[in-house]
Amino acid sequence: MRRFSWAGAAVVRLVAVAGPAALALLAALYIGRPSTVFLATGIALTVAILACDAWIIAGRHWFTGVAALTSQIAFLLFLGSYSASPLPAPSPLSDSLPPASPPAAMAIYALPTGVNHRTAAFAYRGGSPWDKRDSVMTAVLVRHPQGDLLIDTGAGRTLQAQLKQAPVLFRLGTDLAQSQPAADQLDASGYDRKQLRYILLTHGHWDHVSGVPDFPGVPVLVTRAERRFIDEDGWATAAARSLNPTVFEEYGFEGGPYLGFTQSHDLYGDGSIVIVPAPGHTPGSIVIFITLPSGARYAFVGDLVWQLEGLLEREGRPWFEAQMIGEDPVAIQQSLLQMSAIAIRYPQMTIVPSHDPRGYASIPIWSRSVAR
Ligand SMILES: [Zn+2]
Ligand SMILES: [Zn+2]
Repeated sequence: MRRFSWAGAAVVRLVAVAGPAALALLAALYIGRPSTVFLATGIALTVAILACDAWIIAGRHWFTGVAALTSQIAFLLFLGSYSASPLPAPSPLSDSLPPASPPAAMAIYALPTGVNHRTAAFAYRGGSPWDKRDSVMTAVLVRHPQGDLLIDTGAGRTLQAQLKQAPVLFRLGTDLAQSQPAADQLDASGYDRKQLRYILLTHGHWDHVSGVPDFPGVPVLVTRAERRFIDEDGWATAAARSLNPTVFEEYGFEGGPYLGFTQSHDLYGDGSIVIVPAPGHTPGSIVIFITLPSGARYAFVGDLVWQLEGLLEREGRPWFEAQMIGEDPVAIQQSLLQMSAIAIRYPQMTIVPSHDPRGYASIPIWSRSVAR
């Protein structure tokens, strides 16, 4: 009996001191994947921790009490890192819209390939953990007489094999529902693949590269900085690293300033597709500005933000998510503020964060369009 109570006391002390770390992990998992299993386990653990606290106070175990208090304060600080913390307003942009002469036949289409079920708290500081958000994986087909291009590729045919490279914790905190890969959607409609000139990556993370192997022989445009990052990063760029290195085609930013960004690359020389460097999320991340014949303007901002509020409310990603990605905090703030200044000056421009379904609302869905 005496041995048992000694062991029981040890468990109580352990729950009070180490429980908050497990609770932080459960909170992070729930924010990335709002499953009731994580929620119920978290509530049960919270009750257990409070009960252990009561035992510690009643027994005046002050040494354990201080340790438990310290770890519980650390937990509250962790939760606090998800609270709102808006960046200061950017200096106003005075640039007028750069000229563009998009050819009459130019058009864009969305190819949705899958959805991650996440929460607003996962995407930006100040987002609620009770606000469930679809984090979409969508490729965009840009049709242009000089050659079509795909902006990112969504979830590809080999997604399941690629996901095996991800750490167990990431897979545990991710609930991905895949739909038809972009290559299958294009093939089913009778799309002539010879018209596809390039794949243009917003950046090299797995969820943007996943479908590249489904388009053998199509050159993949990346910046030099992103190419280096792909070679040096961990599992998140493993899918890109496993591609034949000869598919990558590097481009530079020989063009002048564009909407406050210091450099640019005009892909076809007509101003309809202009790329600017927007580092931070990854070193070679870009923003792609598209102007359609109708005059409609789009900014495909990749993962600069995961949901529009990140840009409109100038909220960066939460600390934990930023750490997992290994973002450059200074660079991403700069890119975010620059893009925020554009959004303020040109509210008519449609901002498309890769994973926010609202960004694609005005873009026709390829499989529902008669376009061939
Ligand atoms: Zn990314
Ligand atoms: Zn992404």
